Amino acid sequence: MSEKKSGPVGHKPPPPVNQNQPSNVIPLSSVQCKAEGCKKKHVKASFCDEHYEWFKMGLITLEGYKAKDYDKKYSEFLRKKAG
Ligand SMILES: [Zn+2]
Repeated sequence: MSEKKSGPVGHKPPPPVNQNQPSNVIPLSSVQCKAEGCKKKHVKASFCDEHYEWFKMGLITLEGYKAKDYDKKYSEFLRKKAG
């Protein structure tokens, strides 16, 4: 019994080619504002200008969900905005 230790030489398979698959492609959803139902492009912290304000005011969370006391904060927000 003899064991084969090496196959035929000079016939290596070609290395995998990944040139057509750049790894830094950003999916469309990640350039969009995180806030629910918002279709704008994000500007800061994954929010559009308006929703970044909301986030700063605590109206929405970093994930784009409404805060627990959203209603209260929203009316406060509108009051401040009005001056
Ligand atoms: Zn938005």
